[in-house]
Amino acid sequence: MKLAKRVAALTPSSTLAITAKAKELKAAGHDVIGLGAGEPDFNTPQYIIDAAVQSMEAGHTKYTPAAGLPALKEAIIGKLTKDQDVTYMPSEIFVGTGAKHVLYTLFQALLDEGDEVIIPTPYWVSYPEQVKLAMGTPVYVTGHEESGFKLTPDQLEAAITKRTKALIINSPSNPTGVMYSPDELKALGEVAINYNVLIVSDEIYEKLIYGDSTHTSIAQLSPELKKQTFLINGVSKSHSMTGWRIGYAAGDESLIKAMTNLASHSTSNPTTSAQYGAIAAYTVENNAVEEMRQAFEERLQTAYEKLIQIPGVTCVRPEGAFYLFPNVSETVKLCGFNDVDSWVEALLEEEKVALVPGSGFGSPDNVRLSYATSLDLFMTALERIERFVMSRT
Ligand code: PLP
Repeated sequence: MKLAKRVAALTPSSTLAITAKAKELKAAGHDVIGLGAGEPDFNTPQYIIDAAVQSMEAGHTKYTPAAGLPALKEAIIGKLTKDQDVTYMPSEIFVGTGAKHVLYTLFQALLDEGDEVIIPTPYWVSYPEQVKLAMGTPVYVTGHEESGFKLTPDQLEAAITKRTKALIINSPSNPTGVMYSPDELKALGEVAINYNVLIVSDEIYEKLIYGDSTHTSIAQLSPELKKQTFLINGVSKSHSMTGWRIGYAAGDESLIKAMTNLASHSTSNPTTSAQYGAIAAYTVENNAVEEMRQAFEERLQTAYEKLIQIPGVTCVRPEGAFYLFPNVSETVKLCGFNDVDSWVEALLEEEKVALVPGSGFGSPDNVRLSYATSLDLFMTALERIERFVMSRT
């Protein structure tokens, strides 16, 4: 079949590719440890499951408004007021089928052919593909390890052209776990305001923050920045609800209206019972989110120390999310490989540990390890990686 050009040109997800290979080996009876997961390994908290079940039993099994139930929009507004101290109107909220599809809908609504979106590297794999699917042009700005992979205001200014429509900020970041400080956000925000570039702020890992760090949304720094920002978030990572597919956007009313129109012709609405679950997630007091955060923090501390002891490995210390993104270029050389991708492949073949190569994130010297798995398994995986490296150096 001759496919549409824009779809044929899609880069397959590197995360899914390695997961498929790991599954294949597992099915063949091998003891594979997959560190590719992009989702928490906990079940959804019971009070959320109960709320969804009750909603179905109460007969809430029909279509809802395209951009979400009014009660869910109110719950999201309440959450944003409480956590970020920013107030939105219901007409400034769009609920979609996961933050991923919210972003997809946003780029479809925002971009004309050739419009540019600035994407700092390393980036979450779906940003460039979504921009390209909307006929936009991704403009990559290289993040350097020495500056914690963070975009600087000078770099941002240099990347802006007449065609620049938006900038993506993902803090804490997938894949690095790095976060921007309020001052860093303010400085980037000033440039964005000066050139009228929309700031797409993906805050999906907001609740997974470690040590003394705290999360700041760029939208909360000033009324001007709130106006310039399109905030993206959802329940997938915070409440371990990846399969429920509920995400949202908060920002410019005309954009929200356009996205709602698009949703009315594509999804119709996010799944009704999942919306009721999300209402519970945002309105019921419960410490499940904090308990999951603590579990991730404990894993990070133990795993990070062990990881950086592997010969040649350097790693920017993450402040959030559940990934480690070490630079392994030295290790790869020590082991006698030409590139990270072939090192990752050999590691999977020989030691049955699945990592995601950094090339898919725009950072070919790195690999991504997810610690959304038990600490025991993670530490066993690190021991295997160490054994693999030692046997070749
Ligand atoms: N943004 C980032 C940075 C992510 O890592 C993910 C999921 O991996 C998403 C958005 C999408 O989350 P969801 O569609 O599950 O809400």
